[in-house]
Amino acid sequence: MAKKPKSVLEESKEIQLAVELIQFGARLQLLESEISLSRDRLINLYKELRGESPPKGMLPFSVDWFLTWKPNIHSSLFLGIYRQLVEHTDASGIQGIIKAYKLYLEQIPPDEGEEPILSLTRAWTLIRFLNSFMLTVTQCEICGGEFVVQPYAQHHFVCGLCHVPNRAGKTRKVAVATRIISVA
Ligand SMILES: [Zn+2]
Repeated sequence: MAKKPKSVLEESKEIQLAVELIQFGARLQLLESEISLSRDRLINLYKELRGESPPKGMLPFSVDWFLTWKPNIHSSLFLGIYRQLVEHTDASGIQGIIKAYKLYLEQIPPDEGEEPILSLTRAWTLIRFLNSFMLTVTQCEICGGEFVVQPYAQHHFVCGLCHVPNRAGKTRKVAVATRIISVA
């Protein structure tokens, strides 16, 4: 359960953070874990900003999603940005995730009218899976880029950019991602 904020200033900071997260499409579960405002206030804030109630129920995410072809490339790219930020700036926790997520959207913006492949809630879930060792990172044997994998799949790993499934083809975005990951 979230703690009660200590002061008005602290509370206003929490509200600002909640607003930012909701604008990026954060799910209620993420808000409840990261923000010390009551569930009712978070729901009201969500309704006010998005004009609808937050989706009900638990997050359906499992580790499998992060391992499928396109999501794996996007997740790995996001993670690379996040790790650079945490290592080289004072960004950490949810602030680090938000900063890295903004940079991720700048690098690979979604097509017009489309949702990003990696949502903010999924990016947050990814960091939680890594922290609890349900997922880890390994280097691709061919390009040397770092990719999200399951802990037992760390050896002799070839990434989705070096081994593109036929149905996917080489899209412009794959080319951009290849460039970004191999310079990281
Ligand atoms: Zn590779």
